[in-house]
Amino acid sequence: MAKIKKKIKTITVDADKCNGCRGCEIVCSGFHSIPKYSTINPARSRIQVVFRPLEDIWLPIFAGEYSPAECMGREKYLIDEKNYDECEFCRASCPARDRFKEPDSGLPLRCDMCEDEPELEQPKCVEWCINDVLVYEVREEEVDEEESIDDVEIGLQSLVDKHGLKKIVETFTRMSQKD
Ligand code: SF4
Ligand code: SF4
Repeated sequence: MAKIKKKIKTITVDADKCNGCRGCEIVCSGFHSIPKYSTINPARSRIQVVFRPLEDIWLPIFAGEYSPAECMGREKYLIDEKNYDECEFCRASCPARDRFKEPDSGLPLRCDMCEDEPELEQPKCVEWCINDVLVYEVREEEVDEEESIDDVEIGLQSLVDKHGLKKIVETFTRMSQKD
C-alpha cells in the first residue's frame, strides 16, 4: 500500500480542569447547524459532557466511529473513587444508546475536527473552552494511503443497516423519478 503524509490532529482532554459549563457542546452544535449557527442544540453536538454535578463528575467525550452493532461486553470505570456508568467513556454511535445520534433523524454524529474551508486555526470547542481543558495539536505522519469515508457515506451506511439496502435503493429510485 502506498505511503502518504497525513496531518494527524489530536485534542488532549485535561479532565480535572473541566467545570461542566457545556460551552463546547453549544458551539459544536451551532457550528455544525446549516446554515452555521442557525440553531443550537447540545443533543446534536459531537462533543458531549458527562454531567453529574452531585457526584462531582464532568467529563467531555468526543463522538467517534459509527458502529452498526453493539459490543459484546460492557466496561465500568472507578476513578478517584467515582463510579462511571457503563459505556460512559465509549465514543461510538451504536444501537445500544441514543448518544451521538442526530436526535431527529437518528443518523450518527462524528467529530470531524471542525473541518471547514478555509481551514480553522483550531476546532471550535477548543477555542471556546475558557478553562483550557482541550488542547489541540497537529503533527505529520507517514501512513498507508486509505480511502477516507465522509459523513454522507457513514449516514447512508447507518440507513442501510437500519432499513436494508433494498428499501434505500427503492426510496432513492422513487425520489429521483420525482424530478
Ligand atoms: S467548554 Fe471546557 S470546561 Fe466547559 S464543559 Fe466543555 S470541556 Fe468542560
Ligand atoms: S472538534 Fe469540532 S466537531 Fe469535534 S467536538 Fe470539537 S467542535 Fe465538535
